[in-house]
Amino acid sequence: MTAGVIRPMVNRDSKFFWDGTRAGELRIQVCNACGAKRFPPGPACQECPAYDRGYEVAAGTGTVFSYAVHRYPPVPGKELPIVIALVDLDEGVRMVGEVVDVADDEIEIGMPLRVDYNRVDDELTLPIWRRA
Ligand SMILES: [Zn+2]
Repeated sequence: MTAGVIRPMVNRDSKFFWDGTRAGELRIQVCNACGAKRFPPGPACQECPAYDRGYEVAAGTGTVFSYAVHRYPPVPGKELPIVIALVDLDEGVRMVGEVVDVADDEIEIGMPLRVDYNRVDDELTLPIWRRA
C-alpha cells in the first residue's frame, strides 16, 4: 500500500522537518538571529541577513486557509478524492497537507485542524491533518 507513495525531497534544509515528523513533532524553522519563523524551510532568513537556522515545535493546530479536492488524475498509492489544504498554523506559518477523515463536501475554509502522522516506513513519516 505504501509502495507508490510520492516521497518528499529531503535535503539539508528540510531534514530537521522530516526528522521531526518521524519523532511525532511538527517543526517550524526559526531564524536564530531575529526569531522569524518560515515555511518552507530554506538556508537564508527572509527578514534579516542571517543564515543561522533553528526550529521550534509547533502545537500542531491550525485552520484551513484554502483547499483543493484532487479527483483526477490518479495518484500512486492513493484513493481519490484527496483533500489538500493550505493550513494556517497557530504559530503564523502556512503549510500544505492532506486532510484525512473529512469528506470532500465537508471541508471548509476556517475549519480547525490538528496534525497527525502517517508513518510510511522507517525513513518517512508524513504529516496529515484531521478535524480538530
Ligand atoms: Zn532572521
